[in-house]
Amino acid sequence: MSKDSQRYAEKSLREMGVNIRLGQVVEDYLDYKVLLADGSVIHSTTLIWTAGVTAMTFAGLKQEDYGKGKRLFVDPYNRLYRYGNIYAIGDTCISNADPGFPDGRPQLAQVAMQQ
Ligand SMILES: Cc1cc2nc3c(=O)[nH]c(=O)nc-3n(C[C@H](O)[C@H](O)[C@H](O)COP(=O)(O)OP(=O)(O)OC[C@H]3O[C@@H](n4cnc5c(N)ncnc54)[C@H](O)[C@@H]3O)c2cc1C
Repeated sequence: MSKDSQRYAEKSLREMGVNIRLGQVVEDYLDYKVLLADGSVIHSTTLIWTAGVTAMTFAGLKQEDYGKGKRLFVDPYNRLYRYGNIYAIGDTCISNADPGFPDGRPQLAQVAMQQ
C-alpha cells in the first residue's frame, strides 16, 4: 500500500488505542505467550494472525523462480521465466510488468481478476 495509506492506517489504529510495535517479528506462540525475535514476550490468551500469506512451492521449480513470500516471478504475460509453458496469476506471482511494483502488485482480488 502507499505511504499515505500506511500512515493513515497507523494513525487510525493509534487513535483507537491500539499499541503498535513496528519492526518486530513474531517467532512463535507458546503457552499463551507471543515470542518476539528480539527476545521479548507478550502474554496473551488470544493471538490473531494477520501477517499475510505465503504461496505454495513446487518440487519441480528452482529456488530462483521464487521471490518474496514464495511468489513466482513472471513476465508481462504471466509466464514463468525459463519455462515456456508454465503461467502463474494472482496472489502466487510477482510480475515485472510494472517497475513501480518490484515486489509484485499487492495480493488483492482486483489484481488477480485482471491478470
Ligand atoms: C482475510 C482476507 C481478506 C481479504 N480481503 C480482501 C479485500 O477486501 N479486497 C481484495 O481485493 N482482496 C482481499 N483479499 C485478497 C484476495 O482474497 C486475494 O488477493 C485473491 O483471492 C487472490 O486470488 P487468487 O485467484 O490469486 O487466489 P485464491 O483466491 O486464493 O485462489 C486460489 C485457489 O486455489 C486453491 N488451491 C490452493 N492450492 C491448491 C492445490 N494444490 N490444488 C488445487 N487447488 C488449490 C485454493 O483452495 C483457492 O481456491 C483478502 C484475503 C484474505 C486472506
